[in-house]
Amino acid sequence: LDEGPRSCLLRVRHRLEQDMKPSYIMDHMITDGVLTVDEEEKIRTRDQAAALLELMLRKDNRTYISFYNALIKETYDDLASLLHADLPRTSPTAYKSFPDGYTPYVRTVLSEGGVPQRPVVFVSRPELLNRVREKLYQLQKEPGWVTIFGMAGSGKSVLAAEAARYHSLIEGKCFPGGIHWLSIGQLDKPDLLVKIQSLCFRLEQELDPQLHHRPPNSLDEAKERMRFLMLRRYPRSLLILDDIWDTSVLKAFDIQCRILLTTRNRSLVDSVSGAKYEVEVASGLDEKKGLEILALYTNRKMHGLPEEARSIVKECKGSPLVVSLIGALLKEKPDRWHYYLRQLQQKQFKRIRKSSSYDYDALDQAMAASIEVLPEEHRELYKDFTVLEKDIKVPAKVLSILWDLPIEEVEDILEEFANKSLLFMDTNNKPYLYYLHDLQLDFLIDLHTKIVLQYQQYYRDGHPTSGDEECQYWIRFLTDHMAKANLTQELYSLMFSLDWVTVKSQVMSPAHLINDYIAHGPILDKEFQEFLSLNGHQLEHRPDVVQLALSEPLTSEVYRQARMQALQQSSRG
Ligand code: ADP
Repeated sequence: LDEGPRSCLLRVRHRLEQDMKPSYIMDHMITDGVLTVDEEEKIRTRDQAAALLELMLRKDNRTYISFYNALIKETYDDLASLLHADLPRTSPTAYKSFPDGYTPYVRTVLSEGGVPQRPVVFVSRPELLNRVREKLYQLQKEPGWVTIFGMAGSGKSVLAAEAARYHSLIEGKCFPGGIHWLSIGQLDKPDLLVKIQSLCFRLEQELDPQLHHRPPNSLDEAKERMRFLMLRRYPRSLLILDDIWDTSVLKAFDIQCRILLTTRNRSLVDSVSGAKYEVEVASGLDEKKGLEILALYTNRKMHGLPEEARSIVKECKGSPLVVSLIGALLKEKPDRWHYYLRQLQQKQFKRIRKSSSYDYDALDQAMAASIEVLPEEHRELYKDFTVLEKDIKVPAKVLSILWDLPIEEVEDILEEFANKSLLFMDTNNKPYLYYLHDLQLDFLIDLHTKIVLQYQQYYRDGHPTSGDEECQYWIRFLTDHMAKANLTQELYSLMFSLDWVTVKSQVMSPAHLINDYIAHGPILDKEFQEFLSLNGHQLEHRPDVVQLALSEPLTSEVYRQARMQALQQSSRG
């Protein structure tokens, strides 16, 4: 640590020890890679604040900067302002010895701006990176927007941070005003205001730590404050807005400045003004990069990876998120290659848990979030994509028949899905063809399991018999959901239960019931099939299934269940 920051820490140490709660601060510092988990654990066993400061005195300038940023993120603005004057400033140095342009100067500027570090395991994607940087250079001449869009976990945020990690962008003529990162995510207006307040605070502190401005207290005021800061005080700086969901967020930043944003929704920028450029993150990592990640996590050479490695990368189509999640798991349990591959093949996403700072607990939540923001009626349509076969592309016309909607309307809906990265479009073909990423399809199929489980939970005391729309839905489609979710055992016991037969023949009609038995016939019990094929026609007029079933042979399962129910009924009185 340089002299300045060192003496500052010593001067204000008592204030810091009194006022701050170190546990959250340390989380940020770990994310920045300036504190290790071991160190954190040691600190936790002692007087935390004092121990953390003690450790920082033995560390480098980066730690000080990261600590400063963490204070701001945790809204200890007054404490941060005590440290501000001594923030280390590395002067621009010759950067020839840093071939990737990541000089100490860049490092300082980026960490002051809150730009996240590389993930622990990182592979370069030069082609994409160059595309983003090329667009950023366009912003040299005039303000505007660069959008990086793509599906959940495709690596947009990592790419955005990497694009900024480049000497000639910052030091050269492009963004001499610095780079400022703001993580947005799904938030409401009050949260957005808090985010902008803390950004304003950070920017104002950098200019003059003595000045204490009142934080803007409405979004309009915040927008004006930002406009002033960006135009007058930080001209030619780049603002990176990470993970935007809503146009209202972009509108708050529609102030003629230079913005790089990441989103799953390509059309967000339609609502703001200025020059616009976009980069799509369309495909996953190629095999080599995917294997490289697995090799790095598991500390092996590429050629020493087991056979399953290749299948894992292939199975998730090189999704950086999934490969990294599995890599991190393998690091802990190096003998589970086969097991995780199987989990992935069986779509057991819930067991593939998060390990990094990724915002969503598991992949399925990330996917669910994308679907939840669709308007209700489109959400239902989207779920219909489960009828598509893997790796098959369909023209809009097929969907127009499926949904019974005019082709123009279908095209609009498909475009919306594609813009939100929920669907892929093959534009090389005329007419365009549409298809889902394998993982998306698997996720949708997984929804069948979910709906069955929810049903079982909700109706654990018996099937609904009201006959209203909701009841009809369940009675009509429950078997299909079970079949699609591959819940053979559940399907079997459902169709093989007299309760179900009774309810279904009453609520729908015996014809529907029989239809189920034809559709799912192969898994069913012979005696049951015979009973239904012989008595199906009678159900229409004599809905008392139990009575009918009681006349079956005494040894049959049908009889056994019927007898049990009859006994239950009589004991209930
Ligand atoms: P997105 O913003 O598209 O949802 P992120 O950029 O947050 O996705 O990436 C999700 C996860 O994928 C990261 O937490 C990281 O583990 C992994 N990842 C993304 N890009 C890379 C990369 N270039 N190298 C290694 N891992 C990556």
